[in-house]
Amino acid sequence: MDIIHLLPDSVANQIAAGEVIQRPASCLKELVENSLDAGATKIQVLVRDAGRTLLQVVDEGKGMSDTDLRMAFERHATSKISQASDLFQLRTMGFRGEALASICAVAQVEVCSRREEDEVGSRLVIHGSEVIEQEACVCPVGTNFKVKNLFFNIPVRRKFLKTDQTELRNLLNEFYRIVLVYPKVQFTFVSNDEVLIELPAGTEKQRIEAVFGKGQKVSYSSHFVDVKSDTELISIRGFVGKPEVAGKNAQQYFFVNGRYMRHPYFHKAVLTAYQGMLQGDANPSYFIYMEVNPENIDVNIHPTKTEIKFQDEQPIFQILLATVREALGKFNVSPSLDFDRSGYVEMPTTGAMPMPTAMPITSSPSTAYNPFVHAEEKVRTTNWQSLYANTSIAERQPLSEEQQPLFEQTVPTGHIYQYNGRYLMMPTQGGLMMIDQHRAHICVLYHLYLNQIGESLTTSQQLLFPEMWTVGVEEVALVEEMLDDLRHVGFDIERIDPTTYAVNGVPAMLSDASPITALRDILDSVKATGINLKDRWQKQIALTLAQDTSIPYGKTLTKDEIDDLITQLLALPNYRYTEDGKIVVSIISDDELAKKF
Ligand code: ADP
Ligand code: MG
Repeated sequence: MDIIHLLPDSVANQIAAGEVIQRPASCLKELVENSLDAGATKIQVLVRDAGRTLLQVVDEGKGMSDTDLRMAFERHATSKISQASDLFQLRTMGFRGEALASICAVAQVEVCSRREEDEVGSRLVIHGSEVIEQEACVCPVGTNFKVKNLFFNIPVRRKFLKTDQTELRNLLNEFYRIVLVYPKVQFTFVSNDEVLIELPAGTEKQRIEAVFGKGQKVSYSSHFVDVKSDTELISIRGFVGKPEVAGKNAQQYFFVNGRYMRHPYFHKAVLTAYQGMLQGDANPSYFIYMEVNPENIDVNIHPTKTEIKFQDEQPIFQILLATVREALGKFNVSPSLDFDRSGYVEMPTTGAMPMPTAMPITSSPSTAYNPFVHAEEKVRTTNWQSLYANTSIAERQPLSEEQQPLFEQTVPTGHIYQYNGRYLMMPTQGGLMMIDQHRAHICVLYHLYLNQIGESLTTSQQLLFPEMWTVGVEEVALVEEMLDDLRHVGFDIERIDPTTYAVNGVPAMLSDASPITALRDILDSVKATGINLKDRWQKQIALTLAQDTSIPYGKTLTKDEIDDLITQLLALPNYRYTEDGKIVVSIISDDELAKKF
């Protein structure tokens, strides 16, 4: 008897639906986005039991014909793209034609829809992908979409839903992410017959006020300053919170081309702009809207993912940092600006905001703004770097402000001399430059390892005989959590009994050093610095391994090795200090030298 058969459509849809529809909130997102795509200017969301029993979206959009209504529930049925290349020009929210097929696979759906040009509308009922009935009906122009008993046919998934309170919070979060980008659309949110939110059409600022400012004495938006900048690469506008109102429950929103996104790297740019202005672990609020050419981002990664990949993340980081910093400085919220009149210009006032003071010309990104022109010129790797090579490691981290001037000066202009097997010395335009060879290599390797972790790259050198690494019972959980990261830097390890790991492969750079010592160093340093934060421990892995594999003091380097080390080092965003703050590069100016004689 043949045992292979095709899955019935309903089952295939259920499986695929799991990816798109995880909870009522994902359902809300898909339905409201469809309403927006249909040009609705008024949208109502009604839920019962946090969307568990009912999630209803009523819009006054363009509606559907009866055939389109039926078609809309087929997988990959969409009116929004017709060829693969359209994927790169996405402006509408939905584009895969999967949402409705997924929703109707896991719920009992009832839709009424009518177009302006049709006298009567159409009503369709589908339960678990099966059409129950379709008939003509009398209804207003637009679409009224009811999703009842989500996961009625998948008890396991129903069990995964959290309490009503949590699911309602999820629903609201999803709702905020959408309404904040569509201030001109009127929204209402009703939960168990109670109107929770009513949002009239307005400006972005009014929308933010309406969503987050409810019941506050002082207007919420008065705590914000405007950010704005236009460059060829990106245009940025929005609002950032004044440092004095930063706190625990900060609202932090990034949007790109009308979509909410999470972007830890850009988040860091914003935080960097606040450096020195925040108390303790206070978090600033921000609402930042970005527009970029859709060709430069990839939103097609996964329908439910909010992470978005940009082509030019590093220059955008710089522009964002400069823009936010400028905004904070412009409204005199930054205490540290120093006013040298010759270098500053007056900026025009906007609206009812406090009077701006002055701002530095140099921090204002213009269309010609390209912080990387120097970096790019210098990134030329040669031979032994093929070992370390991956110049893109330089592309992840920001230049700190103080580095930039030094960067200009440190173009080596002459012969390089290795002194005492320890320092590399060379004349530069700024004076005599000295580089600590061991720390320089730590910097280079640190970025390499961190990059491997981030990109999930692995280059492991297999050992002929595995070595055994024994850890404490209380350490096992942490090691297990770190396993992926350790693999990415090159450790091929597997657990063979409750507290022993076999080390089958090691990072190529480790050469003769003991892998057990290196692993122990890593584990100890991670334990010492905060084992709860993944990005902290990843940094710690990268740093410890870099320390253990860096060229030692006393090693004589060939001219090529020196050249390459320096080329690599100067291409890094942070080459003046190691990650743990040790000085790598020092310059004795010509004046200081002259004083010695
Ligand atoms: P996508 O949004 O990716 O195209 P969906 O499965 O979400 O896929 O929707 C399928 C199609 O149904 C849409 O392309 C659109 O033509 C139609 N549609 C869905 N919701 C609405 C609505 N509220 N108003 C008008 N048309 C709609
Ligand atoms: Mg859609």
